[in-house]
Amino acid sequence: MKDKIQNIVIAGGGTAGWMAAAAFSKLLGKNLNITLVESDEIASIGVGEATIPPIKTFHKLLGINEQEVMRATHATFKLGIGFENWGQQGDHYIHSFGVTGKECWAGEFHHFWLHGLRKGIKDDFGDYCYELQAAKANKFALSKNTPINYAYHLDATRYAQYLQEFSKKLGVTRVEGKIQQVNKDNKSGEISSLTLASGQIVEGDFFIDCTGFQGLLIEQALHTGFDDWSHWLPCDRAVAVQTKAVAAPLPYTRSIARESGWQWRIPLQNRVGNGLVFCSKYCSDEEAINTLTANIEGDLLTEPRIIKFNTGRRRKGWNKNCVALGLSSGFIEPLESTSIHLIMSGIIRLLRLFPFDGIHQSAIDEYNNKLNSELNAVRDFIILHYKATQREDSNFWLHCKNMEIPPSLVHKMQLFKDTGRVFLDDGDIFRVDSWTQVMLGQGIKPTQYHKIAEIMNDKELENFMSSLKASITNAVEQLPSHAEFIQSYCKSD
Ligand code: FAD
Repeated sequence: MKDKIQNIVIAGGGTAGWMAAAAFSKLLGKNLNITLVESDEIASIGVGEATIPPIKTFHKLLGINEQEVMRATHATFKLGIGFENWGQQGDHYIHSFGVTGKECWAGEFHHFWLHGLRKGIKDDFGDYCYELQAAKANKFALSKNTPINYAYHLDATRYAQYLQEFSKKLGVTRVEGKIQQVNKDNKSGEISSLTLASGQIVEGDFFIDCTGFQGLLIEQALHTGFDDWSHWLPCDRAVAVQTKAVAAPLPYTRSIARESGWQWRIPLQNRVGNGLVFCSKYCSDEEAINTLTANIEGDLLTEPRIIKFNTGRRRKGWNKNCVALGLSSGFIEPLESTSIHLIMSGIIRLLRLFPFDGIHQSAIDEYNNKLNSELNAVRDFIILHYKATQREDSNFWLHCKNMEIPPSLVHKMQLFKDTGRVFLDDGDIFRVDSWTQVMLGQGIKPTQYHKIAEIMNDKELENFMSSLKASITNAVEQLPSHAEFIQSYCKSD
């Protein structure tokens, strides 16, 4: 094993590859030589277009200017995801990024709301969330006085191009070429170099596999293994198509449950990303294309494209001298837009543990343990959406309703039903608010609430709830439309 790690090779230049190149060159460019190999012949997946709020922290860390990246990627703001037809046909709720009500260490706001319901205060849980109400009203603004929690919808191809320019300015060397062979050291089994179709050999001390689903380094060379989660997450295909925008962009992603899967709509400034995620056991590719094209607006900008995937995770995200990021490390479903976030958190974890003076098993274990906790929590949160359905109108939904789920999720759902309590697991990237919004949104009704909610008498509770709701309604009324705000915020200097 090497005692100095200086030369990093990133294999693959999709979102994962260029995010890694940007972060490593910005933060460790003085200590490391970074080369990225990508093939112009092999397209990146090009569909990861919805993000979650921590992406702003990633951009801040890299010193990326928000207006500049939004202009470059035709981005819009995202305040959450609107779920339609998930609990039952006709249902609608928004999982927003905001805090609902007020944060209180002793008992979360939903206990006060549940208590209020029993006292005849019938307002929706979402009426007490600023981001959710702004999303519903299609409004948005950034203001110091009324902070708003948000993420972006962005053009994935343009995002990778933006990060490529950013990284190249910081000294990253881009090598174009198809990786034909991954060479290993006979003794250690570590990766030593990549041979390209041109015959060029790219050597490195440490490799980051960003080659997409195939996992050219982590799986095909290192045989790391894969934990298949398709028994919990049955969708295994998507059909994607882009359309011209025909209406002002909404500040949230739409997720519409269909007969054998769900449809996404991701509004950018100039176009809409559309797709249908489906289960091939219950729906053919042709049926999926027909369902999607029957439910989109605007002229098609691309032909419908089928993408096959397996849900699950690579057994180790870090194996020997290789870390897998992005699709090469596994895939849990795009339902809650977690993949780009997982790339980012993998990069941050690797930055913190980076083995400048040689690789230690303890660092590998730390990386993999933290990754596993994070993935388990994301997995459970996504499965929740499928499991907590009352739909019985198709074989797909019957399967989801009746399928076995991980014991950790059984416990979480039961605890909420029995007591109204939500406790986060280690590595959970979603907050109590997120779990509560989705569980309530999909019809899980707690039979109890925390008695801390009875700290106020009836009059006090009524005043508290009504003034909270009024302050949100008032704040939302002051906001410009989402489209107006983008136009003024993103206009060129
Ligand atoms: P890819 O984009 O596949 O890039 C692979 C790279 O490797 C390419 O540059 C290619 O040229 C290179 N490469 C491959 N083989 C070779 C070779 N032999 N030689 C040289 N180079 C090679 N994530 C979100 O966060 N939000 C979403 O809304 C979202 N929606 C999604 C919807 C669907 C249907 C799917 C399938 C995924 C979605 N994702 C989403 C996930 C997201 O698309 C990915 O996490 C993200 O794009 C990162 O992909 P990647 O860079 O790992 O792989």
